[in-house]
Amino acid sequence: MRITDIRELSVQLQGNVANALVNFSEHTISLVAVFTDAVRHGKPVIGLAFDSIGRYAQGGILRERIIPRVMAAARSDPAGLLDATGLAFDVPKLLQVMLKNEKPGGHGDRAAAIGALELAFWDINAKLADEPAWQTVARHFCTDAKTDGVHVYAAGGYYYPDDSTQRLRDEFRAYQDMGFDAFKMKIGGASLAEDMARIEAALDVAGQGRRLAVDANGRFDLKTALAYAKAMEPLDLRWYEEIGDPLDYDLNRRVVEAYSGTVATGENLFSVPDVNNLLLFGGMRPGRDVFQMDPGLSYGLIEYGRMLSLMESRGFSRTDAHPHGGHLINLHIAVGLGLGGCEAYPGVFQPFGGYPAGCAVGGGLVRPTAAPGFGLEEKPELAPFIRQLTA
Ligand code: MG
Repeated sequence: MRITDIRELSVQLQGNVANALVNFSEHTISLVAVFTDAVRHGKPVIGLAFDSIGRYAQGGILRERIIPRVMAAARSDPAGLLDATGLAFDVPKLLQVMLKNEKPGGHGDRAAAIGALELAFWDINAKLADEPAWQTVARHFCTDAKTDGVHVYAAGGYYYPDDSTQRLRDEFRAYQDMGFDAFKMKIGGASLAEDMARIEAALDVAGQGRRLAVDANGRFDLKTALAYAKAMEPLDLRWYEEIGDPLDYDLNRRVVEAYSGTVATGENLFSVPDVNNLLLFGGMRPGRDVFQMDPGLSYGLIEYGRMLSLMESRGFSRTDAHPHGGHLINLHIAVGLGLGGCEAYPGVFQPFGGYPAGCAVGGGLVRPTAAPGFGLEEKPELAPFIRQLTA
């Protein structure tokens, strides 16, 4: 079995939504396809994946550095990229190949470029075994999969050009009609008074604080962060997310010390050393606070598994992990690794966000279908881009 080709397509995100810091109307995502000469059900096995939402497509890094390294290894020693059985790709080995001649540290766009390609090999391995990816993931990491599904919340509540508290209420009611019973909204894109009015409007729909999380997208300085913490504390919200700059561990610790509610962060930490620093200096509390590292942004699933092991060695549980990025890939990962849950973007970030109809949302849970791999082929919004990439 060998790799015959690797391609990347930069896909534009649809919609005109914004959080406190970023407007997504210009954002792109790398959809990656790895072609093999293996055949299942009469068709060649093609691995599909993408880097997650929020950090742009990585076609340049993939085409100039990462894909040539993997293709060179595939040409010179194809068997060397397979695991001991010879029936599946050795993903840790492939990760090493992708990282050849890369210095440590400075984990930026490179981590998302490699994340997209690394995840495509999990899709291939699952398709080779003719099973959904969560099963391949659980077997590799020896974890108890959450076969009944994982907790899910609808992430939305962005700032729109024509925003109002009524628009926010309508949006969350629509998610409720889809079967979601928990929600997340953005804060920090308006004044504290305006944001508190938005939070009250969202609580009208959510019913209780534990069903509503808020996300500042790293915008706040310490003074603002503490003012919001004080105003929101009586509401007993689900969590207060990415309060300050993702690498400002001291700010995170100071807010944690002043705020009795749950704090969540980690979606913009892309490596094990970054997570180690969060654990050492961020004040995160086992059993209380939430970790949101995202495999597609941080070198893929092998690095993510190392992050979870590190968390567990410091007294945290993998159920404290809720990966950022409400899409099919992270759903399979959350189920396979037995994580606390995952998010969904039912209304935004198409064609990548949300889940196809077969993934029943209900009772606060979402579960993958039995489609082989990550099942991206079942998502109708993605189909034209997959066709374009694999034609
Ligand atoms: Mg966030």
